[in-house]
Amino acid sequence: MNDFAGKNVLVLGGSRGIGAAIVRRFAGGGARAAFTYLGSSDAALALAKETGSEALKVDSADRKALIKAVADRGALDVIVISAGALVMGDPLSLDPEAVDRLIDVNVKAPYHAAVEAARRMPDGGRIVVIGSTNGDRIPFAGGAAYALSKSAMQGMVRGLARDFGARGITVNAIQPGPTDSDMNPASGPMAETMHSFMAIKRHIRPSEIADYVAFIAGHQAAMITGSLQMIDGGFAA
Ligand code: NDP
Repeated sequence: MNDFAGKNVLVLGGSRGIGAAIVRRFAGGGARAAFTYLGSSDAALALAKETGSEALKVDSADRKALIKAVADRGALDVIVISAGALVMGDPLSLDPEAVDRLIDVNVKAPYHAAVEAARRMPDGGRIVVIGSTNGDRIPFAGGAAYALSKSAMQGMVRGLARDFGARGITVNAIQPGPTDSDMNPASGPMAETMHSFMAIKRHIRPSEIADYVAFIAGHQAAMITGSLQMIDGGFAA
């Protein structure tokens, strides 16, 4: 499958989980792919070697470094913003610093990266952010900070779709439900509870998210913009 041959693609947060599956999908489709990572150097270098992509160590919470990294990639055909943080717990005892960092990574970084990418993006480019079904539904306690970050992303996607639509650039959110990754392992203690909220009671595979990102980034999806694409096994139904 060479559906992204020669395309310039950047994935933020690609060393593990959903982001790594997205890197594999684009690199496998012939893209000139690069991805950012922060703590997982070994995984990042292994993935770069495996896929022929470029690994860039950039903290999404460092606005200046993030904007420079995006700008340095030049005219991106596709940017996928997958880097995300999860902070769960009783809001009365959560560390406010951790909550602020979550907002930096999950809200501020996607906005600044998307805007920076759009500066040089050719007409018809694609901006894809990985939101969450929790932007729509948070059926358990302790997830308020995470849910607020993923709801904020929804407003960003709708607004930027209006800003860049005249250039044929689409801006969409993919909203996964429970997806098997280090953040939410299919074998983890929360798995059964997660499945209880779903119509199809299993974790989603990262490759299932990556395939859908590829569809939204493809030529077939030129008129899909400002949308929230749920891949959640019915979690929010
Ligand atoms: P993982 O925790 O498995 O992986 C997170 C990835 O993001 C890693 O590659 C990590 O890099 C990178 N990352 C995190 N913080 C930063 C940072 N500050 N700077 C650069 N890179 C960073 O998570 P998932 O793959 O599960 O999640 C990916 C996205 O999907 C997130 O936005 C998450 O909110 C969303 N999501 C996940 C769901 C799930 O059930 N798994 C469900 C719904 C949404 P490194 O390890 O190198 O630091």
